[in-house]
This record gives sequence, C-alpha cells and structure tokens, in this order.
Amino acid sequence: MGPRPNLLTRRAAGVASTTLALLLSTAAVGVVPAASAFSAAPGGESCAEPADVHADARVKAGGTAKHDPNELTAKQIREREADLSAALRERANFRAGAGATTLATVTIPVVVHVIQRDSTRAGGNIPDSLVTSQINVLNQAYSGATGGAATAFGFQLQKVHHVTNAAWYPIVQGSSAERAMKTSLREGGKNTLNLYLGELSDNLLGWATFPQRKLNSMDGVVALSESLPGGTATNYNQGDTGTHEVGHWLNLYHTFQGGCSGSGDSVGDTPAEASPAYQCPTGRDTCTATGLDPIINFMDYTYDSCMYQFTAGQASRMITAWNAYRAA
Ligand SMILES: [Zn+2]
Repeated sequence: MGPRPNLLTRRAAGVASTTLALLLSTAAVGVVPAASAFSAAPGGESCAEPADVHADARVKAGGTAKHDPNELTAKQIREREADLSAALRERANFRAGAGATTLATVTIPVVVHVIQRDSTRAGGNIPDSLVTSQINVLNQAYSGATGGAATAFGFQLQKVHHVTNAAWYPIVQGSSAERAMKTSLREGGKNTLNLYLGELSDNLLGWATFPQRKLNSMDGVVALSESLPGGTATNYNQGDTGTHEVGHWLNLYHTFQGGCSGSGDSVGDTPAEASPAYQCPTGRDTCTATGLDPIINFMDYTYDSCMYQFTAGQASRMITAWNAYRAA
C-alpha cells in the first residue's frame, strides 16, 4: 500500500477546483438527481441546494477510491470563511438582544444509526460495545488526553439505533439513498451529532458535513462501521475516522487544504502541507514554510496510530464555529 499518486497529482495541478468538480459530477451521474449533486456547486453556500454541498471525506492509503469526493476549492473556502464571519456577526447581535453569552464548553449529544443489511456482523451489525468505545475515543481526542490541545467538546451517547435496510447498504456518498436515509433517520437540532455507521461506497472511510446556519437534514457524520475501535479496518480501526470527521462537522478543514500557499486550513498553528500524508511518514516536510508537515494531526490522512492531536488553533476555530452555527 502506498500513497495515491493520482490524488497527489491532482492536488498539485492547481486546476484542482474545476477538475474535482467535474470528476464529482461525473461520478454522481446516475445515482443523484442533478439538483442534489454535491458539486453542482462551485458556488457553494450561495447555491440554492443547501447544506450538504460542503462535506468532506477521509480516504484510505492505496485505496481504490477514484476521488476524494469533497475536497473544497479555494473559492468554496473563501465563501465558507465569509459565511463564518457573517454568522458570527449575526449571532453576536442576537445574543446582545437576548442577553446571552457564548459557550466555553459543550457536551454534544450523539445519536448513532447503525445501518445494516442483515443481522450478521458481515452485514453491518456491529456490537454496541464498539459504539461505546468510539464515544470514548472522541472524548479522549477532544479533551487533549491523547497528546493534543484540549478542546471545548465532550460527547454523550444518547442512543444506538440499528436500522436494517439493504437499500442503504452500502451507504453511497452523494446518492439519493444517502439523502433518503438521513431524511428518514436524523434526530435533534443543530447541536446533535448524528453518526451513521455502515459499509461505505468507493473505499471511503467517512465523510461529514460542515456546519451551516440553517439546519439541513443531511447534517451529520458518516463513518465506516469497521473503523470503530476494535473494528476490522486494518490501520484505520482505532476510531480516528470518527475523530477526523467530527472535526469537519465542527468546521475544521484538512491540514493540507490549500497546499503551501495562502491561508491553508485557516488555522495559524498547523504548518502548511502540500498534500495529504498517508501511512506514517518520518520527517515529511513538503512546504518551505516553517514546520514539519502535521502528520500527527487528526485532520491529515495518516494511519490512526499516527494521528493524536488537535492544535490550540483548531480548538479555538471549533468553539468559535460552534457559537456561530450550532449553539442554541
Ligand atoms: Zn476529511
């Protein structure tokens, strides 16, 4: 298993936005009505079709996935950052009127939907003990206990909902079936993390939606069920797909977003990185800017055993986004 040269090449090409959008549209043909295709949307947030326009995924090293379905273009990043600023202004005005304050710590209720084809493990029926372990991994990672910065967030499991439906198995990223599944199953408000577990399309480990001002039924995190701690996904079975995807759900970008130039991932203390890192490389340094590549960061693509930290800048970005988008 080695790095995926096609992905690296594509990212290095500088024409990535157009190329990826086209690839994505092509991939979506036949499974998604045009109006709901994720990337019909170079226009992103301003596009009429809402919410799930911006999702982000994690892929395996050497995987067979033909694309990283939701890499954000520079334009989409600009739009998201502008929306964050606008949302913060909007919320500040609201709070001033309501006498409310911003939150410093948050306990996120988690509703887990285990999507299965039948009642066997091979059919997706994982034991609830794996889900409990996943919640523990999230709490460890987001508290800083694994070696990173402490974030504001803790996670509390509300329920595990087993759903047997062959039409939703595997979960196909961007499909009308994914939309139907989420529309049918999603629970709670903007502050509720809905975690969908199952077999996934395209050799993906997971994907997630970014926060938006208005709740959309697509909001949530999808993860490969065997990526949970104790699962069978070799090198990716310590639960950090969940950690990574929840990072997106809390508004983090990949550490390699934007490559070596510009504002990168919009976080000041994650060194710039030209492209995703896979496996667990030693001394990787792909940009001339200060600092080795942040391969130990949860928002890179390395093995679970390799990633163990969020930075203080990421922690700050997440709680800022929470107060802008997900706080009551
Ligand atoms: Zn990702």
